[in-house]
Amino acid sequence: MTGDSFYNGLNQVIKGRVMASEPMSRHTSWRIGGPADFFVEPADSEDLCRALAWARNYGLPVIVIGNGTNLLVSDSGIRGLVIKLGAGLSGIEIKGAAICAGAGALLPRLANRALQAGLAGFEFLAGIPGTVGGALLMNAGANGCSVGERVKMVEAIDYQGHVVTFTKNELKFNYRKSCLSRRNLIITGASFEGMPCPGEEIKKRMDDYLSRRRSTQPLELPNAGSVFKNPPGDSAGRLIENAGCKEMRVGGIQVSPRHANFFVNLGGGTAADVLELVHTVRATVEDKCSVKLLLEVQILGEV
Ligand SMILES: Cc1cc2nc3c(=O)[nH]c(=O)nc-3n(C[C@H](O)[C@H](O)[C@H](O)COP(=O)(O)OP(=O)(O)OC[C@H]3O[C@@H](n4cnc5c(N)ncnc54)[C@H](O)[C@@H]3O)c2cc1C
Repeated sequence: MTGDSFYNGLNQVIKGRVMASEPMSRHTSWRIGGPADFFVEPADSEDLCRALAWARNYGLPVIVIGNGTNLLVSDSGIRGLVIKLGAGLSGIEIKGAAICAGAGALLPRLANRALQAGLAGFEFLAGIPGTVGGALLMNAGANGCSVGERVKMVEAIDYQGHVVTFTKNELKFNYRKSCLSRRNLIITGASFEGMPCPGEEIKKRMDDYLSRRRSTQPLELPNAGSVFKNPPGDSAGRLIENAGCKEMRVGGIQVSPRHANFFVNLGGGTAADVLELVHTVRATVEDKCSVKLLLEVQILGEV
């Protein structure tokens, strides 16, 4: 079968967006990444199951992404099918103190809906640009809170399309890590528990967190948030700065002068540039501070 006939076959079964040779740089906050052979943005969960069945039928590997804000995609791209969970699975419903959200719902929208409903506990999400699915997989967090602490139930499907649900007690979350990543599942939605609270208090906390971000993070340039995890009891940014790596540059990628754990794309940066800078920064920090930094960003595709 040719690439064209694969594409036509996929296009016939999917209601949502279908692309062939889709540049992944369009789907990552770093604006980096070569083409995905096939790319689908499902219109709903049935569409997602149809895309999985299509890939199974042709023996193609599948990778699921959210908003691409924690990803480094290789310059050669991704072989097989990339499924982006976005607008088609982004519903948010609030009943009492419970918030149900689709995996594709953006975190700032979730935080704003919680604010409107007078539910506290989601203020920290207002400045994190990912989706509910990506946040659960990464146990995204800030300001002393993380997604895992707020979740009540997670719904997912396996690559055969079988639905699996997990209650809070069946899930385990650690710093930027959840047990969901080992299970090879696609998260489709979750419910969370909010805490009733006056709207002004929620709004004030949210505004404080957002203004702190604006003054400390280089949000005007493409980046992927923190490149490295914070080592226990320390900050990766502090170590990188102390090791003298601030403003270090490889090609189009620079260690941000504003926040040393953010690597910014000054224009034309490649995955190879990021990886070389990661390697140099990590070696320098290990040499000068005797700490081995671990990557927080997820690498997709062959590097
Ligand atoms: C400016 C900026 C600030 C940031 N600040 C923070 C912060 O304060 N705290 C923080 O924790 N992170 C932060 N991040 C990183 C990032 O936003 C979070 O990790 C976010 O949760 C990633 O969500 P995503 O939808 O973009 O996931 P993606 O980057 O698309 O994917 C991340 C991983 O999750 C997997 N994945 C995505 N969706 C699903 C799904 N539905 N089912 C199964 N697997 C899935 C992907 O395969 C990949 O392995 C920041 C990023 C930026 C650019």
